[in-house]
Amino acid sequence: MNLATLTACATCRLALTERPDGDSIVYRHPVTEGRHDVAPVDAGQLSRVFNRCHTCTGAPPVWNYRTGLIQIGALAAGAVETYNDQWHVCCRCAQFIEADDSDGLTAHCAALMRWLPHSDEYTILRTLHRGIIIGRDGSRTLLTTTDWPPARITAEMLPKIRDRFTRLLRGPANLPEPLNDLGQRRTLANHLDLAPLYWINQEFTDLVNAVTDDQPSATVTDDIASAPAGLITWPEPVGRSRQLAAASWTPHADGWHLVGYRSVGSALDDDLMPTLRHEIGWLVPIHTQYVARGTTLDGRHPLGPLITTWLLINQQMAEAVPARLPKGTTRAYERSQRPAPEVRIVRIKPQGADPRPERTEPGSPRSRATPDHRFWVSGHERQQAYGPGRSLRRPVDIQPFLKGDEDLPIKLSTTVRVLGSRGTGKNPNTDNR
Ligand SMILES: [Zn+2]
Ligand SMILES: [Zn+2]
Repeated sequence: MNLATLTACATCRLALTERPDGDSIVYRHPVTEGRHDVAPVDAGQLSRVFNRCHTCTGAPPVWNYRTGLIQIGALAAGAVETYNDQWHVCCRCAQFIEADDSDGLTAHCAALMRWLPHSDEYTILRTLHRGIIIGRDGSRTLLTTTDWPPARITAEMLPKIRDRFTRLLRGPANLPEPLNDLGQRRTLANHLDLAPLYWINQEFTDLVNAVTDDQPSATVTDDIASAPAGLITWPEPVGRSRQLAAASWTPHADGWHLVGYRSVGSALDDDLMPTLRHEIGWLVPIHTQYVARGTTLDGRHPLGPLITTWLLINQQMAEAVPARLPKGTTRAYERSQRPAPEVRIVRIKPQGADPRPERTEPGSPRSRATPDHRFWVSGHERQQAYGPGRSLRRPVDIQPFLKGDEDLPIKLSTTVRVLGSRGTGKNPNTDNR
C-alpha cells in the first residue's frame, strides 16, 4: 500500500485534502472551497504543485488536524463561506495549535501575509483559527505525502533513527490508516527494537541503483532476507523515483511486514529542527505491505531496491562489517539497560580471498564463459541430483543473480552503465562520499 501519493487538483494545482467516506474519498481544496469543482489527479502528473501549510502557507505541512466542516458567516453580508474539515499544518503552526494558542497562530500567519490587526481578513483568520483549535478532534495524523528534501544518512545515525521511529510508532500521533492499527504498530516497534541495522555504503548503493530497475522476479523466502528482521538504509534515496531512503522487514504470520520510508532532511528553520527530530525523527513511512513467503517481487516494485540489495548480499557480492559506534550511543543504550545496537555496514566484498577468473586480453575473442558485461540471470528452477549415486532429482529454486566480473560494465535491457572503481583502505564508517 502506497502512502506517499499526493493528490492535487488538475485545474489549480493545489494539493487536496482527503477524507474517506464509505468506499470513496472526499477531496477538497485546502482552506476554502474553490470556485471550480475539484479535479483530483496524482500530483506526480502535474508540475509546480502547491503543497504548503494551510494556515500560514510558509512551510511544508507535517500534520493533519481534523475538525467538523468549518463554515463562517458574515452577518453584514449575509453570506456563509465554507472552509474545510482537514487542516494540513506545518511544524511551527502545529506548535501554536498544540499549545491552544489561537492568538499566537493568527499573529504568526497574519504577519506572514502582511494582514494588519483589525482588518477584515485578520478577523476572519482569527475566527477560523479558533474554529480549528477548539474544533479539532483528539489527535493529529502524520502526513506521509510531503516531499521532503532527503537526509544524508550515515551508519552512526542508525540507532537514533531507529529509536525515533519506534517512539513515533508507540506515540499518540496517528499514522495513515493502513499503518495505524495499535497492535500492528506495537508489534512493528517491538521487532525493530531488536532488529539489526544495515547501512549500505555508497559504492554498493550505486550498484543497487544501477541494476534494480532490471532485476528479474525473485521469490521472497527465508533464504534471501539477510536476517529474520532488519532495517536497511542507504546513504541517499534509491529506486526509480529516488524516494526510498530505508526499508524494514519484520516477521509476520506466514511471511513479512515490509515498510519503505522516505527521509526528512534539514528542511525547516534551524530553531524547528530539534522539534521535528523529537516528534518525528528522520523516517516517514511511504509504503507498507504484508508479503507472504513465496511471493515474487521484481526490481520495479516500490521496495525493489530492498529485494535487489538482498539478492546481491545473497550471492555473496557483499559483506557486512560491524560499524564502530560513538561511545555516547553505546553508553546511552547501557544506561537504559538495552543490548548494544547492532549496526552493520554492507559493502562490496574486497577481492583477493578467492582467485579471480582469468580475464582475456582486450581484443581477443571471449568464450561463452567470460562475458564482456554484467547482466541479470533470471531466477529458475533447477533439478538437483541427490541420494544414492546422485540418482534422484529434486527441484531447487535458483534466485536471480548478477552475472559477470565486477570490473565489467553493466549491460541491462536498454543501457550500459559503468560504475566508478572502488576506493581502497577507507575507514568503513566514513565511506559515505
Ligand atoms: Zn482546483
Ligand atoms: Zn504553518
